[in-house]
Amino acid sequence: MSRTDNIMEKIVSLAKQRGFIFPSSEIYGGLGGFWDWGPLGVELKNNIKKLWWKKFVQERLDVVGLDSSIVTNPTVWEKSGHLSGFSDKLVECKECHHRFEESQIEKGCPDCGKSNLDLAKDFNLMFKTFVGPVEDSAATAYLRPETAQNIFVNFENVMQSSRAKIPFGIAQVGKAFRNEITPGNFIYRSREFEQMELEYFVHPKEDKKWFDYWVNESYNWFLELGIKKENIRKQAQKGGELAHYAKATIDLEYNWPFSAKGGSASGGDKGWAELIGIANRTDYDLKAHGLSFKDENDSYVPYVIEPSFGVERPALAFLLDAYEVVEGGRTTTTQSNKKEEVVLRLHKSLAPIKIAILPLSKKEPLAKLAGETYDMLKSDFMCTYDDVASIGRRYRRQDEIGTPYCITVDFDSLDDKKVTIRDRDTMEQERVSIKELRDIISERFNAL
Ligand code: ATP
Repeated sequence: MSRTDNIMEKIVSLAKQRGFIFPSSEIYGGLGGFWDWGPLGVELKNNIKKLWWKKFVQERLDVVGLDSSIVTNPTVWEKSGHLSGFSDKLVECKECHHRFEESQIEKGCPDCGKSNLDLAKDFNLMFKTFVGPVEDSAATAYLRPETAQNIFVNFENVMQSSRAKIPFGIAQVGKAFRNEITPGNFIYRSREFEQMELEYFVHPKEDKKWFDYWVNESYNWFLELGIKKENIRKQAQKGGELAHYAKATIDLEYNWPFSAKGGSASGGDKGWAELIGIANRTDYDLKAHGLSFKDENDSYVPYVIEPSFGVERPALAFLLDAYEVVEGGRTTTTQSNKKEEVVLRLHKSLAPIKIAILPLSKKEPLAKLAGETYDMLKSDFMCTYDDVASIGRRYRRQDEIGTPYCITVDFDSLDDKKVTIRDRDTMEQERVSIKELRDIISERFNAL
């Protein structure tokens, strides 16, 4: 199926209007590459992180979790190679001192037009800060550009405290910061973002097997959560693209409706770009930190296979994949007066709001019964309550944010103690007894 026209504009607008994502500090003009997640966005993001943790930590005996600090001893970044190697090449204009990527320069400085340009130099992407009251080089520290290093430096702590045996993994979800030169494409390239990373430690002889395994597990996670097969692919990075620590990397690429390298994607290969990456980091990091594995039979430096997920790019991919415009509206029972309607077909476990309670009237005694229905469900499901405007308008509001189920409380409900469940995708309506409602809905979610 072809994509809706101007889908990025529509997603950005939906995100703002309905409270998924706002530009950070917007009342002061925002700040490039920084975003705030609104009431619905924070639910979506939490669901992504929860579902990742469930599959990669909770449901496995060989993976444990970690939540480490964002600022560390700067030696971590010296040893890891990030201080010297985590950089992009930039050209500085000697007149206006603005910096550009080489690819941005055709004739002279793109800002002032003069041709007095310096040679390309490495520009480190790590954000600097100072620890303690003195702002000098001795107090310089960095905001982590990846969560992985904090996992490596805790390797021994975790191994010993959890009595782990190779192969095993340590997972972490948390913020990462990169002073990206050209942030853009909405949240695709941000300067502050979240990562969900898993460092899986293996015997060096088994690296290939585990690399393939984690590529497939990662790929399947996206398919299980509804990403369409035609929009995701595995793509090996070429030698020149590899990070300083990697022997091999396979990116899971998504077919974005923009070119991540600038310009707009209008078909062909242009939209394909990294969603997440799986790297074989070899023994690079553990060796760099002087760490190894020892047991009664063996001693070696394990290899590390790393599925490295961001949260922002998956969130954007889930939104794009789920966004559907229905020309002429969805209603088939009554005459439609809408040119188009939007339905966000998010996987039900990702949906920010699971259930909307919609009383047909604001007044008592319906309000009381609807309130009791809400109270009955609220501890198990993220619910909302909406008694404003016609029922059709309210269904559309919920469709647009991907709410899987609407529960309508009507005047008959007062007598028969039944309510109507409406399914977002099929629009089928089923009348069920209020007593059984929680079990029925639970069953539907468990069956996913
Ligand atoms: P790119 O080549 O697009 O700059 P990368 O190869 O530097 O990405 P990794 O270092 O592999 O990215 O980071 C792992 C994951 O973290 C990425 O696949 C992506 O999901 C996420 N990520 C990295 N940089 C950003 C960013 N600036 N904004 C949002 N997410 C990011």
